[in-house]
Amino acid sequence: MDTVVSGIRSTGNLHLGNYFGALRNFIDMQYKNRCFFFIADYHSLTTHPDPSKLHGNVKNVLTEYLGAGLDPEQSAIYVQSDVPEVTELYLLLNMHAYIGELQRTASFKDKIRKQADNVNAGLLTYPVLMAADILLHKADCVPVGKDQEQHLEMTRKYARRFNTIYGVEYFPESQPYKFSGELVKVPGLDGNGKMGKSEGNGIYLVDSDKDIRKKVMKALTDSGPTEPNMPMCEGVANLFTMLKIVSGQEVHDYFLEKYNDCSIRYGDLKKQLAEDMIKVIAPIRERILQIQSDDEYLRNVIRRGAEKARESASKTVKEVREIMGFKPF
Ligand code: AMP
Repeated sequence: MDTVVSGIRSTGNLHLGNYFGALRNFIDMQYKNRCFFFIADYHSLTTHPDPSKLHGNVKNVLTEYLGAGLDPEQSAIYVQSDVPEVTELYLLLNMHAYIGELQRTASFKDKIRKQADNVNAGLLTYPVLMAADILLHKADCVPVGKDQEQHLEMTRKYARRFNTIYGVEYFPESQPYKFSGELVKVPGLDGNGKMGKSEGNGIYLVDSDKDIRKKVMKALTDSGPTEPNMPMCEGVANLFTMLKIVSGQEVHDYFLEKYNDCSIRYGDLKKQLAEDMIKVIAPIRERILQIQSDDEYLRNVIRRGAEKARESASKTVKEVREIMGFKPF
């Protein structure tokens, strides 16, 4: 059984892209591995969020992940800042992280462009904090998207460097987690190739049935095929991709046949898609609403998660301190 660590950024609500692209796989993954899921509130500080929103954002992420099926009995679900060991490991790893390599990180260069007025040291050392998150539990695997591959490579570099400097085989070289199924990319229904927060085209796990129907009915299409087997415009192709993900291959093929023989009515396709989305989202949304008002339950989940994480983290930090030469008097 592998140890898997996954960080979740505490910004905004989760949408169907997050669900089908990541979360659904996490739910499956947690029953086959020893999983640590943490909510990355320290990481969110690199952009100086409004203090009055910090806690609410953490709570949103927590309730949405629990509502979607992360199981606190099975996995450690914790808030990063509840595990102070991560800050010590971050400090220790920072001593072997070189300024030049941090400055060359693609995400840092990108941030310099995007927030030129706030290029703080936290941004520069973001990959070191991420390495500390992962190495704190000596993770074998980390489920990462394309944008995080370089950071995971840096984590491996810091692990190797630590092992070499101190002549130990201590930290593992954490690998990207390989999901059994194919990873899907969820399109936007506004003709955009991707559903995303910043794209502003999300269908959210907390959306009401009415909102879902409204968003789907507004999806971009054309005036319909005029000859058999016509190529699709991007908006229509996106609807079909979505149909395959949400409704399944059979429903997709039924409508494809109608598209190809020009008898399709987009309204029928959209109605089917909206109802199938509701079948996925409504039970999740109901659970989220229920959990949101159950402070006692949330406190227990977070306390248990922090306990499990600290047990693993304190063992690592103690061993790292010994390796580095710290000794009690
Ligand atoms: P983000 O919301 O961009 O921080 O992404 C969180 C996770 O959801 C990452 O693992 C992404 O790869 C995944 N994700 C976000 N949007 C999509 C999408 N439209 N299709 C598939 N996966 C997505």
